[in-house]
Amino acid sequence: MLCKIQCPACGGALILPLEAGGQVGRCSLCHVRFRVPDLSARLEDTAIGWICKSVDGHDPDDDHVAREYPPPKPARPATLPRHHVPTHMKVKSTSAQMRQPTEVKVDTVQSAAPVLPHLTYVGINPAGVKITFDSSLLKSADFRASLPMQCLGCGKTATNQLVAQPIMWIDKAFGRSSHQLHDHEANHRLHLRDRGSAREVVDLMPPLDQLLPPFNRAMPYFGCENCIEDLHVRGTIHADAAGIICEVIIPTGPYALAWIAAINGTDAPEYAAVETTYRRLETGNWRTIPMKVRNRLAGWFEFQHDEQFLLYLPDSDYLSRDKGFGGVILTSDRLIFQKYSHHGSLHLTEPANLFVHNDDAFDDLSYQLPRQGRRDMVRLRHRHTEDLLESLSDVPHQLQVCLE
Ligand SMILES: [Zn+2]
Ligand SMILES: [Zn+2]
Repeated sequence: MLCKIQCPACGGALILPLEAGGQVGRCSLCHVRFRVPDLSARLEDTAIGWICKSVDGHDPDDDHVAREYPPPKPARPATLPRHHVPTHMKVKSTSAQMRQPTEVKVDTVQSAAPVLPHLTYVGINPAGVKITFDSSLLKSADFRASLPMQCLGCGKTATNQLVAQPIMWIDKAFGRSSHQLHDHEANHRLHLRDRGSAREVVDLMPPLDQLLPPFNRAMPYFGCENCIEDLHVRGTIHADAAGIICEVIIPTGPYALAWIAAINGTDAPEYAAVETTYRRLETGNWRTIPMKVRNRLAGWFEFQHDEQFLLYLPDSDYLSRDKGFGGVILTSDRLIFQKYSHHGSLHLTEPANLFVHNDDAFDDLSYQLPRQGRRDMVRLRHRHTEDLLESLSDVPHQLQVCLE
């Protein structure tokens, strides 16, 4: 059983297992360590408790959220080549609508007003587009059927070539091991064949029985058999001041855009933000990096606003099958490095020395900021160093390259 508490340092809402009571924990928001109070007394008040109650109550089968949606409006044609944008469920997200009074019957005092479907764009990292939504939306079958019925990799829409797979909530029941996750996904995979709508798929897909409601309600995404082996939509569940939030990473820009178009509309700021950022990434070297490597880069690199990816070079001390775990990334603004436990970044506009110590086919890179000691960075193959220096010469920077 899970319980919601407030961090004593930052006041952030945290979800903890009941057994954590009395132990020392670290706040995931502000990273302060504190002793967790006895949780059993608080269980009744938790948001998770509320979700369970309202689902176990009179309306087990979804949709009192869905009925509150305004009637569907035709979506403006999206400017996406190749990709079909579903027109159902397009809802404008004005704040007036968000605060609309509601007639929905609720049996607890917690904030149980129906949440209008809305996707929040958080940012882009190498693994994909990060999107959050309110977890109570999972109670709506229509919302769960809102991911675009097209391949998330190649955009293919022929249903006889698509399969559906539910979003896995990692961290919760499934752990983080990619083998385990992959098995769960494969076990829940559904071939669409002649099934005509995502809603039909939602109704057919069995619940994820390791999870509490509403997270056990399967929310499918779609892909052709080729693409879905490598591409996944996986999510995590967080608590913040607004409630319990689902965060998902959509691995490809067009798929994220089609979903945002369906929920927020093509005129929403989220749509414009993803479109601009993704278009920037889809040009140049980013395209050539395999998804597996991107997922690894996501462990140590996140795009900053307006930053343009230039190249990634692997550290030569890693095995080639471990590509992505270490190395350097050059963007229009930064040089970011990662090797074992050391990690850091240099802003190209700040003066620093970049030392390249040649040792036959390899180069050891290190750097030095003014009035500081020299620090190791990475080891690159000589031809990769040449690529790096060449790319560096194309961007404005204050790095002083010293060849040794
Ligand atoms: Zn905190
Ligand atoms: Zn595909």
